[in-house]
Amino acid sequence: MNENGKVYLIGAGPGAADLITVRGARLLAQADAVLYDALVTDEMLELCPQAEKINVGKRCGRKSAAQLFINRLLVNTARKHRIVVRLKGGDPMLFGRADEELSALDAAGIAYEVVPGITAALAAASAIARPLTKRGVARSVAFFTSSTAPDQPEQASVPDCDTLVQYMGGREAALTAKRLLAQGRKPGTPVVVVENASLPGQRVWHTTLAALLHGLPDADGPVLVMVGEALAARQSATDFNAERLHATGGL
Ligand code: SAH
Repeated sequence: MNENGKVYLIGAGPGAADLITVRGARLLAQADAVLYDALVTDEMLELCPQAEKINVGKRCGRKSAAQLFINRLLVNTARKHRIVVRLKGGDPMLFGRADEELSALDAAGIAYEVVPGITAALAAASAIARPLTKRGVARSVAFFTSSTAPDQPEQASVPDCDTLVQYMGGREAALTAKRLLAQGRKPGTPVVVVENASLPGQRVWHTTLAALLHGLPDADGPVLVMVGEALAARQSATDFNAERLHATGGL
């Protein structure tokens, strides 16, 4: 019989404690141990007062060694406890090293289940009330990063989609703008940068691709760079109503 516990890889969402799923919150309340990342807030951890809480937030520069350490710790924790939660910011299946952790669990014969979360890009779109797709304007979206594994070549191009959302790209924003302009995007293309989406320290910066060439203002929190015509300011409600009246021939 398998004496090991089960690991739940849970998406914590973008930060606000009430943006985790009901399933995720229920499992947190039952967990014996919770391994959590740097982007998980204290408020979120209040959902599991009973659990042993283990901070496995990575420090820049030693990421791969840290990841091996996390994989091993996850396996060892599941050997000691019944319900283990691996809590990750946003959704665990996007830019979250999930494959490495699930491979380690597979190799150790430990059962797991993944619970989705709201990824930062979707939270940021809600925060600014601008859609990522828009009828007649944008029908494809790419979530991308230029960040690569140490043994992989640097990514020189940006995906060719109508709307782009760059994760982990704060420091490379100017380079992203340069690449996009070289790939034929218009200098006036709207850019919205969202820091700390859904958190009390949320900040939003509206600009254009041409201005992004000069880089971003300093940010303390996690940042997303969003690019595309769908992010342009909406017509005002008055314009919209006027247009509708016109379309219906008036009242
Ligand atoms: N799995 C996560 C992404 C992890 S990568 C998800 O699905 O959201 C970490 C990057 O996510 C950060 O560098 C930043 O680009 C973005 N990010 C995460 N939380 C964020 C937030 N609250 N606001 C803005 N960007 C965020």
